Amino acid sequence: MTSQSTDPLTLRVVIVGAGQAAAAVARTLRAEGHRGDITMLGAERVGPYERPPLSKTWLSAEALPEIASLLDLSRSGQPEVDLRTGVNVTRIDRALRTVHVDDGTEFRFDRLVIATGGRARRLELPGDASDDITYLRTTDDALHIRRRLKRGKRLLVIGGGWIGLETACSARRLGVDVILVEAGQRLCERTVPAIVGEHLLRIQRSLGVDVRLSAGVDRLSKLPDGRYAASLTDTQEAFDLVVAGVGMVANDELAAASGLPCAGGVLCDVEGRTTDPHVFACGDVASFEHPFGPVGTRRLESWDNAEQQGAACARAILGKQTAAHSLPWFWSDQGDVNVQILGFPNATDTPVLREDDGRATLIWLGQCAIDEPARIEAAVCINAPADMPILRRMWQKGVSVDRHTLASKDLSLKSLLQRSAGVGQNGSAGT
Ligand SMILES: Cc1cc2nc3c(=O)[nH]c(=O)nc-3n(C[C@H](O)[C@H](O)[C@H](O)COP(=O)(O)OP(=O)(O)OC[C@H]3O[C@@H](n4cnc5c(N)ncnc54)[C@H](O)[C@@H]3O)c2cc1C
Repeated sequence: MTSQSTDPLTLRVVIVGAGQAAAAVARTLRAEGHRGDITMLGAERVGPYERPPLSKTWLSAEALPEIASLLDLSRSGQPEVDLRTGVNVTRIDRALRTVHVDDGTEFRFDRLVIATGGRARRLELPGDASDDITYLRTTDDALHIRRRLKRGKRLLVIGGGWIGLETACSARRLGVDVILVEAGQRLCERTVPAIVGEHLLRIQRSLGVDVRLSAGVDRLSKLPDGRYAASLTDTQEAFDLVVAGVGMVANDELAAASGLPCAGGVLCDVEGRTTDPHVFACGDVASFEHPFGPVGTRRLESWDNAEQQGAACARAILGKQTAAHSLPWFWSDQGDVNVQILGFPNATDTPVLREDDGRATLIWLGQCAIDEPARIEAAVCINAPADMPILRRMWQKGVSVDRHTLASKDLSLKSLLQRSAGVGQNGSAGT
């Protein structure tokens, strides 16, 4: 079947999934002048919202935060999006260019965007309580946990990744006793080098989280009083609630069943193009090679990627290229400590460390002789949020600096940025 539309601004676009990436696609399409139909099909009861607050304020703030819609076009004068919530897309027919929903409806598309995100990886443990383990992905999950986190209660967190760490901090804020077990030898092993993991461990322990590394749960059973007995590697403990944060599984089954290549996510490029020119993917479900990342495809499960790739995907649908891409950016709040990550910190290189009064900024430079200037490739700011926009700017401007100068406490990052005026550009989008 060939598309009836020749003008990309009138293409009929269907978006499967109604999360953050889906919202970024729709908003950007409209901002770029697209006036064709956009249908967004989401399985949750609510339209697109931001998930980061779920493990932070949603668990620990006194009043439950409001959900801010990511798809409010009412004041922009742009055509609305046909948002259908509480519907499950069950099949994609790429030959007929239709998607099929569990209530029997079908939608035709000129361009399809798969923005189905992911789901929490589930645990199956010996004992009779695996079904009672709570995971944190949606507002319903956050509400379930929030209702159970009360002063004096005991929480077991399984998994020392970002969601586990944030849940542990939020619980400590409420006076909950927390044991966190992590099977690996350090925290956030998959995403940050050991030196950052050590900082995270110090933060957690300073907040009173009982972090146990190289540890796991051998058995989890229900107790007659409604609590849970957990056989941990060294001890036997009772808990009121068990939360696991052991990674995400991409919701790529629909795409795979339609014949699109998938490998831990829908394979696409940084702008969401799949092997089918009519089908795009973006956000947590997308697996792609980042232009500034290591060789190979990977998912970037972050707020920033949902925004950037969603927007890039919309432009690609309209036949426009995103002028330049930026380094990935991620943040996490561990209690009152803000952690931000730029780029892909390299586990084997030693970063330059700028440390001062509880703040630490670690900066990775490109390959060079020890005393030669090189460009910033990645950075981690721990409790130093003001450094991040400067480092992003330095990267965008392609600033080169040597390790010794960068480490100097007498020179602020701002002054290094100012000194560099006029050097070559990295060509980033300037985010
Ligand atoms: C608790 C939590 C805290 C986070 N904190 C941070 C943070 O501090 N910093 C940061 O950078 N990132 C954070 N993230 C990550 C960030 O929120 C995600 O990367 C982002 O939400 C991804 O957006 P997405 O649209 O790709 O996927 P999602 O937001 O998961 O949206 C996908 C949507 O598709 C729907 N869907 C799936 N299959 C179907 C189907 N067949 N039919 C219809 N609908 C379907 C799903 O129900 C879902 O609503 C956090 C994530 C979580 C869960």
